Amino acid sequence: MLIKKVDILGVKIVPLTMEQTVKKIIGFLNEQKNHLIFTPNPEVIMAADKDKAFRNILNEADLVIPDGIGVILASKILKKEIPERVAGCDLIQQIFSRIKNTEKTVYFFGAAPGIAERAAKNMQNTHENLKVIGTRHGFFNKEEEPKIVEKINALAPDILLVGLGVPKQEKWLCRYRNKLNVKVCIGVGGSFDVLSGNIKRAPNSFQKLGLEWLYRLIQQPKRWVRMLQLPLFMLKIFKVRIMN
Ligand code: UDP
Repeated sequence: MLIKKVDILGVKIVPLTMEQTVKKIIGFLNEQKNHLIFTPNPEVIMAADKDKAFRNILNEADLVIPDGIGVILASKILKKEIPERVAGCDLIQQIFSRIKNTEKTVYFFGAAPGIAERAAKNMQNTHENLKVIGTRHGFFNKEEEPKIVEKINALAPDILLVGLGVPKQEKWLCRYRNKLNVKVCIGVGGSFDVLSGNIKRAPNSFQKLGLEWLYRLIQQPKRWVRMLQLPLFMLKIFKVRIMN
């Protein structure tokens, strides 16, 4: 079934619930081609608004998922409902719980040395029988890239999680999508830091109130410049609403 995407400042988001998204990705695992999945929040959408090439990279993905309460709010203001937030970090854990007792395999690529390994161990403790078949940190130079792809392909994981931060992970995946022997690639941003316990995720109470961004700001005050994009994003959305 063709899903009508929701346009948020030129980024085409799929209006699916968490459950529908997980089902779709599990379906991708049984197809022959490689699928790209990105999880933009308002900050990322603002970056795409300023950079057409980056926006095109996002829109060429198979699924662009609303990761951020601001994206849901924007869809409401624009009267194009997106049902719920699908946070990348929650999404991958939902996928892990579905594949843990199957033959499907995962590779963690990104974050500082040691973090992806720790994240993998934690996930294998939480999701017993989860098959994480490889990890690699996310710091490398251009010359190393073909070797990284080669190593991933030698293991041929079903799912490749790439946490190099935005827009590096999207650009990297766009460059190598046709060379990667995997079924699903997901850009996961800083998720390995959370899954490894390096950074704490906002408590449920914050998440329910739509204040995860505030918790992140308190934890990582250096993010405040990046977070200035949030009110600018909302202003832009109101502008679009008024103009249409
Ligand atoms: N990172 C990386 N390689 C790089 C730059 C960053 O692996 O060259 C990692 C970094 O260690 C962190 C993640 O990318 O784990 C970016 O996290 P952030 O919370 O900034 O994610 P974003 O908001 O960009 O999705």
